[in-house]
This record gives sequence, structure tokens and C-alpha cells, in this order.
Amino acid sequence: MKHQGILIIISGFAGVGKGTLVKRLVQKYDRYALSVSMTTRAPRPGEEDGREYFFVTKENFEQKITENGLIEYASYCGNYYGTPRAYVEEQMAQGRDIILEIEIQGAMKVKERFPEAVLIYVLPPSASELEMRLRGRATETEEKIKERLSRAAAESEGLEQYDYVIVNDDLDVCEQELHGILCAAHFTPKQNVSFINELRSELKKFGKGEKRI
Ligand code: 5GP
Repeated sequence: MKHQGILIIISGFAGVGKGTLVKRLVQKYDRYALSVSMTTRAPRPGEEDGREYFFVTKENFEQKITENGLIEYASYCGNYYGTPRAYVEEQMAQGRDIILEIEIQGAMKVKERFPEAVLIYVLPPSASELEMRLRGRATETEEKIKERLSRAAAESEGLEQYDYVIVNDDLDVCEQELHGILCAAHFTPKQNVSFINELRSELKKFGKGEKRI
């Protein structure tokens, strides 16, 4: 059975550490490719254009929407975020596992278009730990922290839409769990539709006596 690349969506509350988790996975295993999103939000200290995000103006972003250059996009806490189409399609065609680290509205749009996508939500061990991590970042204003926490409460209502939830308590453990889930995901029937269909049609031919060994 030849495995095709899978489309992976990783979501999680702001501050949960999903970015670090995904970066580690991509650095460690060649099979994963990470999509770099486009956003209108300002870069945080240490972020680089083309690495964490493509940082663009609202006009450029809207232009990209018009050109149908995004697989999905969403508005999050006052800014646009979207997934450029070309890179994802290229990686999928090459059979690599492609990771989109996106929020829930975008995740639902991708799920609709690609029902075989694997959706994983990264949770904090507790709400108080999440608040501590957000404050520890020290890059956000009090108002932004509150906005992101209230957004987390709203997003938590949609968790059942995901295939898996994992808790990021110990980063090493969480990384192993995530990799384990993704390895297993290759073996689900929905990821192997063409192999199954081919086998089915061969079986029918043998069943009718049209084919023999
Ligand atoms: P941050 O500003 O903290 O980097 O990201 C805010 C939220 O936007 C996170 O939940 C992140 O997963 C999400 N996000 C990042 N890129 C995209 C994207 O391309 N599309 C969507 N829908 N969400 C994104």
C-alpha cells in the first residue's frame, strides 16, 4: 500500500505552544512540510517575513483573495490570516504531509473542501496555565491577552469538530503523541481511497471469473 501525503490541520488556543510544537516536528522529520500563512498583523519581535508569516498590507491580502490565491482565510482578532494555495497544492502533489497551523474558522473551510484532512486541536493542561503562558509571552497588551482568552472560550465550543485533541503539558511528550497520531492517520480508509477502490475493482473481476492468477 503506497501512502499518499496527508493534509494536516493543527489548531489551538493562542499561547498553547502549537507553533513551537509544529516547528519541532518539521525540523525532526523530513516527511512534513509546513505551510507559511499570509497575515495583515504586525510582526512580533523575532518574527521574519517569509518564515513565520508573509506579512502583507490589507490591500495586498484582499488582492490575493480576489485572485483566488488562498485555500482559506479568516479574520482573527482584527487581522486577516490565510493559507496561500500554490505551496499546499505543490506539496500535496509531491505526496508530502502538509501542515496548516490555522484557527477554527479556516479549519472548518478546509475540512469542507478536503474531507480527508486530519484535524488536531492542541489544548493546554488547564485554563490557568493558558493564561500564564499568554502573560509570559510579554509581547501582548492586557487588552490583547483578554481578547485572546475570550476567543479561546468561544473556540472551545467547536472542539468536537476535530478528529483528535492533544494536551501540551510536556513538549517532548506532546510532540511524540502528535507524530504518533499522524503516523496512524496514514492507515485510515479515508487516506487510502484509491488503493481500496483499485483492490475492490480487481476483486470484482476475480469474483466474476474475468481474471485469474
Ligand atoms: P498569531 O497572531 O498568534 O500568530 O495567530 C493567531 C491565530 O491565527 C492562530 O490561531 C493561528 O493558528 C491562526 N492562523 C495562522 N495562520 C492562519 C491561516 O492561514 N488561516 C487561518 N484561518 N488562521 C491562521
